[in-house]
Amino acid sequence: MSNASNGSKVALVTGGTRGIGFETVRQLAQSGVHTLLAGRDRNKAVDAALKLQGEGLPVEAITLDITDPASIDAAASEIERKFGKLDILVNNAGIIAEDRTATRPSQQSVAAWRETFDTNVFAVVATTQALLPLLQKAPAARIVNVSSILGSLALHTDPASPIYDFKAVPAYNASKSAVNSWTVHLAYELRDTPIKVNAVHPGYVKTDMNAGEGEIDVPTGAKTSVAMALVGADGPSGGYVYLGETLPW
Ligand code: NAP
Repeated sequence: MSNASNGSKVALVTGGTRGIGFETVRQLAQSGVHTLLAGRDRNKAVDAALKLQGEGLPVEAITLDITDPASIDAAASEIERKFGKLDILVNNAGIIAEDRTATRPSQQSVAAWRETFDTNVFAVVATTQALLPLLQKAPAARIVNVSSILGSLALHTDPASPIYDFKAVPAYNASKSAVNSWTVHLAYELRDTPIKVNAVHPGYVKTDMNAGEGEIDVPTGAKTSVAMALVGADGPSGGYVYLGETLPW
């Protein structure tokens, strides 16, 4: 068993190769957490981990395609063998699979809906289910589901809200609503345990997902995931937060 498990927390961040995930790995490692940078492409994960190791951070690469059950099983076995537990799971990996030339929600293909839900919802559930036994072996695990403000039905139905007119990617938006619902259900199941489960909105962040557009930089975009990954015993579970503020479902 690795020395990293002696005394230090172990975290896994899915989609750690770039964007918000990469920065979440960096910030968790900067706080002293031994952090597994998970990527579906082994080489990309290793390259990203080497970069952070070069900054002197306790980061190691792990291969994980969250849509591949065999890959999930292999990652869970590797963590079990090396650490025997997992303190933090950040379900960060996500995609926008929609046809951006479709101008109305009704024009999005069912294929785009399926692809989006496969990664953003079903893979998150599968990854969490597989890693839950390891999370339960940690003293007080944290599960962070990276959602989006675009998953908020309350804001989508409020004409005064800033996202009221953001209806161009319905499968993505609905996938994040489903992530929110999954968060509430899992938090309820685990309510009498020390484990906390929260959904986060990172902000509108300048990453590849937005073709570099966005309102905030990537380090700020990782802050809410990191805060919920490290939240204390007095913190929320079953919450939906952005930079310390609770969002309406
Ligand atoms: P990004 O730059 O596009 O990065 C996405 C990450 O997910 C990449 O590391 C990618 O890996 C990984 N990924 C995709 N499919 C995967 C799979 N099947 N298995 C494992 N990894 C997979 O996106 P981002 O902007 O950082 O977004 C991160 C999260 O924040 C997503 O859940 C997104 O929905 C959410 N979010 C983002 C914003 C924003 O403004 N950017 C706003 C709200 C919510 P590869 O490198 O291999 O492609």
